[in-house]
Amino acid sequence: MSVTKEKIKKLNNQLKKWSKEYYDNDNPSVSDQEYDAVYNTLLKLEKENPEYILEDSVTKKVGGSVSSKFQKVTHKYPMLSLGNAFDEEDLIKFNKQIEDVTHDFNEIEYIVEYKIDGLSVSLIYIDGKLFKAVTRGNGIIGEDVTENVKQISDIPEVLNKKVDIEIRGEIYMKNDIFENLNRNGNNFANPRNAAAGTLRQLDEKIVKQRKLSAFMYSIPDSINRDIKFQSEAIEYINKLGVAINTDYKIAKNINEAIEIVKNIIQLRDKLNYVIDGIVIKVNEIKKWAEIGFTSKFPKFMIAYKFPEETATTELIDIFPTIGRTGRVTYNAKLKPVRLAGTNVQAATLHNADYIREINISIGDIVRVKKAGEIIPKVLGVETKRNKQIWKESKICPACENELIRNEGEVDQYCFYEDCPQKNIAKLEHFVSRGAMDIEGLSIATIETFLNNGLITNIPSIYKLNDRISEMLDLPGFQEKSVNNIINAIEKSKSQDLDKFIFGLGIRHVGAKNAKILAKRFGSLEKIVNASNEEITKIRDLGEKVALSATNFFKDDTNKKMLKQLIDLGMNLKEIAAPISNKFSGMTFVITGTLSQTRTFFSDIIESNNGNISGSVTSKTDYILAGSNAGSKLEKAKNLGIKILNEDSFYKLLEKENHE
Ligand SMILES: [Zn+2]
Repeated sequence: MSVTKEKIKKLNNQLKKWSKEYYDNDNPSVSDQEYDAVYNTLLKLEKENPEYILEDSVTKKVGGSVSSKFQKVTHKYPMLSLGNAFDEEDLIKFNKQIEDVTHDFNEIEYIVEYKIDGLSVSLIYIDGKLFKAVTRGNGIIGEDVTENVKQISDIPEVLNKKVDIEIRGEIYMKNDIFENLNRNGNNFANPRNAAAGTLRQLDEKIVKQRKLSAFMYSIPDSINRDIKFQSEAIEYINKLGVAINTDYKIAKNINEAIEIVKNIIQLRDKLNYVIDGIVIKVNEIKKWAEIGFTSKFPKFMIAYKFPEETATTELIDIFPTIGRTGRVTYNAKLKPVRLAGTNVQAATLHNADYIREINISIGDIVRVKKAGEIIPKVLGVETKRNKQIWKESKICPACENELIRNEGEVDQYCFYEDCPQKNIAKLEHFVSRGAMDIEGLSIATIETFLNNGLITNIPSIYKLNDRISEMLDLPGFQEKSVNNIINAIEKSKSQDLDKFIFGLGIRHVGAKNAKILAKRFGSLEKIVNASNEEITKIRDLGEKVALSATNFFKDDTNKKMLKQLIDLGMNLKEIAAPISNKFSGMTFVITGTLSQTRTFFSDIIESNNGNISGSVTSKTDYILAGSNAGSKLEKAKNLGIKILNEDSFYKLLEKENHE
């Protein structure tokens, strides 16, 4: 065997092993960079020696490399999320709002479907063949998971009819398969996580083994296909040979729908899959456009959410923690209890007022709730025992400085600048996944580094590569783990600008506002040099946020820190690069009532590098006008600006080479 062939085989095996660590065990032994380096070597060798490419080469897999993962795809029609109903009253209100719009003399017919707790996907068939399968993503842009979806037997590669069609639905994992998977060494929290992890596998063989299931239920352009009812759409999908959930019900009116909902609540635990709610839709599709949308959701369908699960357990202790702003949060230490499928042993109590309000003492039996992924919360006392009366903390548990409550405020604060817990929380936020995403710098590691003087603030993180020998002296740190940390820090230098801004932990500047700031300024250098006026002028930033951001950026200490970071080689990426330049240099104005929210259209425009403006001027290129468009449309007509409806907008988007 030739040396090259031998080497290709070796590299492939190595990459397969790493990939397995990453995706199956969630425990990678190498950094992404290391993986990518080996991956690229393999790719190069294969290119030079195509005759030696292995049948099972990792380069043939979806996405290929760990860090590049799956290709991004823009949905032709946005994948919407739904508004929620929590009780009967909400459903009656939902119905009332629809009747107010339709003025229909007859009662509204509804279709009631299970809301499967899985992952939404869109399947695109061309000439009856599966062309693309795309995850929901953010609703506008998803990930191409075609190769993996082909492993799901509920989804045929070839339909019974040679049609061009987009079909949407949910991919999920059955309960018995999930339990079996966890019995065999996996450790997924719930079937949805297992399904998500599986769908992101690089090795489609594993996807096949794991036996995912699917229920498809919608055709986004039903109306153009002469499909008149949602129930008809489901049956049509079935006829094409794609799996559907046959357990949907038709209700003559909202009262019947409510009865059906009640029945489903009774039987939901008997199903072999998890449902996290029930979806109620107006069955007649023609009515959908008429009923329209709120700023966020369609008004013709709603998700009924199941009541939150609660449990009772003993309150063992109450202890305060200090957040990155210095704010005190009180927490409950609980006797471990099973709740919504997980073990719960801590819950939030918010602030001292809340503890007094629910009047709990240590030793009481308390009721705890958990909703979704949110940290559990203590609702109140179930059985009073009064073993030990709780007293509000007066000093910071970390720095022992006095805790301060400003007049009229509920929360207590530790205002000491160098409070270690505050520092930990700040740095933890900075390195967190939503911010700089520095893997390997866990809370424990940050604590160790702080205690040993290796880090003191954000810039010191970027000086760690000068202190490798000191890191290696710490117990539990080996060359490999230290290398991983250094690599992750290095990689974070080219993180997205908005994530960096978010990581700074500026008051009121969450992920969304950070994005707006990043879009507006473009680079860290420009932010550092921006005048106060420039910052306050930012579109979409409220006064409160703008003030907080200005205060942060004009503060000398912060300015110094940011300059220091630039000197340390920060090379932040401008906000998420547009997926195409189709609309580059074009300015759009959106007006009137459209079939989707304005945000959906502006996201599409911006992700294709176009600009959105609030007012029509001679610089406007296009106006996207829905029904009831008023003065803006008039003005556009007067100025001779091109007017688009939704159809012509999508056509413009589809046009490959726009002049
Ligand atoms: Zn403190």
